[in-house]
Amino acid sequence: MIDHEKIEQAVRLFLEGIGEDVLREGLIDTPDRIARMCEELYGGMEEDAEVHLSKTFSVDSSEMVIERDITFYSTCEHHILPFYGKAHIAYIPDGKVVGLSKLARTVEVFARRLQLQEQLTGQIADALMEYMQPKGALVMVEAEHMCMTMRGIKKPGSRTVTMAKRGVFESDPALEERFFRLLNAGALR
Ligand code: ZN
Repeated sequence: MIDHEKIEQAVRLFLEGIGEDVLREGLIDTPDRIARMCEELYGGMEEDAEVHLSKTFSVDSSEMVIERDITFYSTCEHHILPFYGKAHIAYIPDGKVVGLSKLARTVEVFARRLQLQEQLTGQIADALMEYMQPKGALVMVEAEHMCMTMRGIKKPGSRTVTMAKRGVFESDPALEERFFRLLNAGALR
């Protein structure tokens, strides 16, 4: 549960900590504004991907399904700074598929909380396997981390790429090659 009052108190303390005047005009409403924003940024903690992934429909095909370029915004749990980019999801159906928008909703559930990119990638793959039971799933995430671009080593534009493979993707390297061929195919760009 998001506790507005605690967040407001913490933001006031934080502002004082960096030497700000919490009562000046520009900052007076900031604690409340941040508390309300947290509902949106961290609301994924109160959601379950099962809601989205259990609405499946039957198919005969077991051809790979790819949903690419799912834009997401998340927050790094080490610095509480944004990281954002694109997720690409592939799965091999075992008699059932989900509506494509449900894959994007699943990414949202796990992105809207404090995260690590590796963990986000794995959680999406695990949710697909658990709730949809495909033959296999592959999730690839490419993201830019503000904690690497606006501080620290300051390398704007650098991207971190993570991948999680489950089921048949773990045992059959040809499937992963096929995923990359399809991902890079001109028709999809
Ligand atoms: Zn970070």
